[in-house]
Amino acid sequence: MKKFLSMALIAAMTLSLAACGSNANNEADSTGSDSASSDKTYVIATDTVFAPFEFSDENNEFVGIDVDILAAIAEDQGFKYELTPLGFDAAVASLESGQSDGVIAGMSITEERQQKYDFSDTYYDSYVAIAAAENSDSQGLEDLRGQTVAAKTGTQGAECAETLKEEYGFDIQYFDESSLMYQDVITGNTVACFEDQPVMAYGISQGNGLKIVAEEKENFSTPYGFAVLKGQNAELLEMFNAGLANIKENGTYDEIIAKYTSAE
Ligand code: GLN
Repeated sequence: MKKFLSMALIAAMTLSLAACGSNANNEADSTGSDSASSDKTYVIATDTVFAPFEFSDENNEFVGIDVDILAAIAEDQGFKYELTPLGFDAAVASLESGQSDGVIAGMSITEERQQKYDFSDTYYDSYVAIAAAENSDSQGLEDLRGQTVAAKTGTQGAECAETLKEEYGFDIQYFDESSLMYQDVITGNTVACFEDQPVMAYGISQGNGLKIVAEEKENFSTPYGFAVLKGQNAELLEMFNAGLANIKENGTYDEIIAKYTSAE
């Protein structure tokens, strides 16, 4: 039995090696098997709380710009999907381990990530902002010296904090969810948090008790894209781009953005 298993393993490994070798010029092969089953339900992972991109509304419905854009694109392109809110870092990990086919989570397109993932066209522009409690005296980055800031694991906000840490002499505490990070700043455990500006601006407009004290537009401008694992799910990425173009043209995209960003 053992011997059989190891033989089978070796056979499988050889097969996958062979597949790797021909992958570069044989894209049709890998997409062909997927599109043959047009009944496929794609598993798309997302964040849990990242308003206005994904969050649970007062009726406990999971809504947001990402949620609506994906729904509109899937309808336009006629594909089925299941959206699973896992948290940002976990969503990316699930993509990497093959448990999900794609990620839509206000995910920034960065050069580093492009080594591992294929991104769709940009669907929203963003950059990193630093926010402190509304009632704090903090005026900006200089006021963070000797203090601890909050950042969300695996995000551009965290990357930004790591980049500025030495220069401004602060420590970083990591959180898995944006909401926990804000709470920590409001409680006063940490003095500021690093978050995407559109998300922070939305939170502030909803009265989350924070204020923006600095912005990192130049080095941390990070447009959002839908991601698949590099070289995988090419047909899904194509459908996403085609659908995005269509919903931009027919006004659906603008309606979705207005629905979540106009003053309430
Ligand atoms: N845009 C940020 C990133 O991609 C944060 C995303 C998120 O927290 N959902 O790193």
